[in-house]
Amino acid sequence: MIQDRAIAYFSMEIALHTGIPTYSGGLGILAGDMLKSAADLNVPMVAVTLLHEKGYFHQKLDEHGNQSEESVDWDPRNFLEPLPAMVKVEIEDRSVKIRGWKYEIQGNRGFTVPVYFLDTNLEENDPQDRSLTGHLYGGDARYRLCQEVILGRGGIRLLRELGYDSIKKYHINEGHASLLLLDLLDETRQKLQKRETDPETIEAVKRQSVFTTHTPVAAGHDRFPADLTRRVLGEREVQHLNGFHGNDGLDMTRLALHLSGYVNAVARKHGEVARAMFPGRSIQSITNGVHSVTWTSEPFRKLFDQYLPGWRQDSFALRHALDIPKEAVWAAHLEAKQTLLDLVNQGETGMDIPLFTVGFARRAAVYKRADLLFHDIERLKKIATEAGPFQIIYAGKAHPQDREAKAVITKIFQAQQALKKHIKVIYLTNYDMEMGKRLTSGVDLWLNNPISPLEASGTSGMKACHNGIPQLSILDGWWVEGHMEGVTGWAIAQEGKASDGDDRERDAAYLYHKLENVIIPMFYREREKYLNVMKHCIALNASFFNTQRMVQEYVTNAYLSL
Ligand SMILES: *Cc1c(COP(=O)(O)O)cnc(C)c1O
Repeated sequence: MIQDRAIAYFSMEIALHTGIPTYSGGLGILAGDMLKSAADLNVPMVAVTLLHEKGYFHQKLDEHGNQSEESVDWDPRNFLEPLPAMVKVEIEDRSVKIRGWKYEIQGNRGFTVPVYFLDTNLEENDPQDRSLTGHLYGGDARYRLCQEVILGRGGIRLLRELGYDSIKKYHINEGHASLLLLDLLDETRQKLQKRETDPETIEAVKRQSVFTTHTPVAAGHDRFPADLTRRVLGEREVQHLNGFHGNDGLDMTRLALHLSGYVNAVARKHGEVARAMFPGRSIQSITNGVHSVTWTSEPFRKLFDQYLPGWRQDSFALRHALDIPKEAVWAAHLEAKQTLLDLVNQGETGMDIPLFTVGFARRAAVYKRADLLFHDIERLKKIATEAGPFQIIYAGKAHPQDREAKAVITKIFQAQQALKKHIKVIYLTNYDMEMGKRLTSGVDLWLNNPISPLEASGTSGMKACHNGIPQLSILDGWWVEGHMEGVTGWAIAQEGKASDGDDRERDAAYLYHKLENVIIPMFYREREKYLNVMKHCIALNASFFNTQRMVQEYVTNAYLSL
């Protein structure tokens, strides 16, 4: 059967549904949201990822906030259709068989985008290979490299086996998928009837390859030592790679940069940072978004259906949100807030609906500084007594091997004890899509305070603005573009000037100042003004920071430009 798709999208994680736990955070959510919008817009895409049948992990926290992890048991059969198609890749001189599972994303006009989940847990495989598509970001460097062989090379081969013969562009979503380039080089060379990978072959590969880099954090760029690479990929492939990559190990970002005709970062500022990281490379930027319908809570969906007809088909309709009456926005907000507090109060925390509620949820990576708010506990108590009472809800998983990130979670638990009589602080366990949606629609303020410029984009604040929730954030990532002081939210900065670096004293001071003198007083004493900010979040930001706009940019700037 001929499968008529022009763009193949490769991503180590794709988040489609809370029940399919094959994602760890923003990268996967972005991939899933992008494909949903592609389906809505009839963009002829197909996607590939790994099955991760043990998921990322299930988070447990003890009373001190110490995290432990458990495998997630999920049954792919509940969501995916197993395919008989079988392909092979060579790993450490063994032949590893792969089968695919299919998921179909339904767009809102009936068009579908298929996603294939690769699986090596087959009886024919060596026991050590059967576990390779088990844990997302699990194991050691060898495990990761093997997974990347399966994703890149196995992915391309599965698409061929299924009849996808008209693919024009291969989109490498972060360096994990760069090894697809090895197969693309081989294929292209054969098509051009070349014996060697000459400049003409490389140019032809570049015309087919789009690469998106997602983080300025060094640990986010996979590098594998030369001896490991030789063992896993074999001598022939290593020789092949050395021709244009150098022989000091395998750097997945460099490989993709070298062989992709279009490269982009994920926000304007991230574009500047990425160009400084990789001098001499041409790097564009396409700012991230979120899938509007997915991340809009039920009360706001109803509100938009009533006042902004057509918004489900066209996110740009959200720009008319200023016409929605304030009382209707407030009523929808209270309903969404109640839904969140119902979840929170299952733990008998007794959080109150009238109380100003701050939300902070993201992967517990150190650079995101989840504990910054507790820099000065006494100051925080004073704000609660003098400016107005508030409560705070946290969530987020630390990578199992990231001890420092785990320590950040325990610090929040310590702050919770220290603030016990003054400010309610709660940490929800096992942050996932469903919880993310409740949080980003149920608090009164979304907080984001990473070390600038390490936040490439960030997307949870975009989810919040779809639900009329303003953000207080460091001027980093998308917020540089989305921030209008006092109109769409507030900056943790002096006079709107971005301040880079990890200066906690400085950033905590700006953060306290805004909460104490601007935001909390406005929330309690100038509700009309606060509602005006809420409406501008929707009109100015939700209407732009969505994946409909983003996919349209990928189509015109990346896919059609090569
Ligand atoms: C949206 C989301 C993220 C990404 O949020 P960032 O602000 O980009 O860090 C991570 N995890 C879950 C569960 C989410 O819903």
